[in-house]
Amino acid sequence: MKNKRKTIPTDTVLVFFALIFLVMSILTACGAEEALPQEETEPALTVVEDEPDDAGEPLTSKPLTSEPEEGDPEAPESEEPEEETPAEGASGGIVDPAIQNEVHVVSDTPYVMSGDQSFWVEDKVLNNGYTMPVLGLGTYALTVEQAENSVYHALKYGVRLIDTARAYNNEDGVGRGIRRAIDEGLVTREEIFVTTKVWDTDFGNAGRAFEQSLERLGLDYVDLVLLHHVPRTNDEKAYHELEEKVAEGKIRSLGLSNIYLGNDTFDRMYEIAEIKPVLVQNENHPFFQNTDFQAYVGEQGLFIESWYPLGGRGFTQEYFNNEILLGIAAAHDKTVAQILLRWHIQAGYITIPGSSNPDHIAENYDIFCFELTDEEMQTIREMDTGHGNFNLRG
Ligand code: NAD
Repeated sequence: MKNKRKTIPTDTVLVFFALIFLVMSILTACGAEEALPQEETEPALTVVEDEPDDAGEPLTSKPLTSEPEEGDPEAPESEEPEEETPAEGASGGIVDPAIQNEVHVVSDTPYVMSGDQSFWVEDKVLNNGYTMPVLGLGTYALTVEQAENSVYHALKYGVRLIDTARAYNNEDGVGRGIRRAIDEGLVTREEIFVTTKVWDTDFGNAGRAFEQSLERLGLDYVDLVLLHHVPRTNDEKAYHELEEKVAEGKIRSLGLSNIYLGNDTFDRMYEIAEIKPVLVQNENHPFFQNTDFQAYVGEQGLFIESWYPLGGRGFTQEYFNNEILLGIAAAHDKTVAQILLRWHIQAGYITIPGSSNPDHIAENYDIFCFELTDEEMQTIREMDTGHGNFNLRG
């Protein structure tokens, strides 16, 4: 019997090869995919870019960023200054309001800055009875990481007042710096005074904006909350919402910022305030002095807190190279920065110089062991030009 040869139809052969080709293609494609790098699932960290200041009008809802000043690099030194003895005594505690407006000593022990020199740290008594340090650390233009390190070093050196704002985009760094210092036993929460600010575009929902700041800071309460710029739409509503937070125990004191003489803004806000503001934070430095406004708000028991105490980022060299100030600095064996800060304190202001450089932070706090003479105070008083570097007049 003849074997019958089976013939395979051409169509079947074609389908067979097509299938093989398909399987090979899929395998090759899978292999190729495995060889590719894994797709990033986490977004890359955004590096915060620098920006000159937080005072200008252009800032709307855009969060602030930072800029190291030209010729004044603020990069943290790798070498850490010597360890200092932190000041004792609580800031932010309640004192009899009858003695408000007086500078008084809060420390039981003197703060020791440089081995053989010691001095008393002073606080102001606010119109609600809380105390507030006269000198602190500003954190405008600091990145989250810089803010954490600066706050930590400041607290380590004895600084007890920290100023931040929602708009600085670094409240979480400030909170981390505070926690680090507390965890290391350098300070307690009660010993420090923390300020933040509600940004203008949040005035419609200031209570919520404040709660978010509180969360970013990681604190149970904030010592002082300011309306960042006034007047602005909804400023009265915002103030009242913050008053509710005072009632809830989440804020101790309220304040205003960027109000100058020449309009009714301060009077209007003071009038509607059921909980009176304790201070106004303004641009203030020898070339642009708030003397008249200080006297005006002083009548209601408010202080002026100076921002741009050294002239501000991008403007400090005008001061640091000033012949008159250099002369005064030489007479006291101090730096011009220290002379400027001493002037703020002696003129009755509270102030918050900004820096990310631990050496500068220590230097800026070392101003309690000398005094400017009446003549020197008068010389600086006469430097007022009436023009600020931002000079916002809402
Ligand atoms: P500032 O006058 O404190 O100057 C800061 C500049 O001085 C920085 O460039 C810093 O590098 C330099 N500096 C600090 N100490 C120095 C030292 N010992 N030697 C040499 N250089 C030194 O300006 P600022 O930081 O913008 O203002 C102070 C704070 O005020 C801010 O950090 C912020 O907290 C607050 N602020 C508030 C408002 C507002 O609208 N309420 C506006 C601006 C600033």
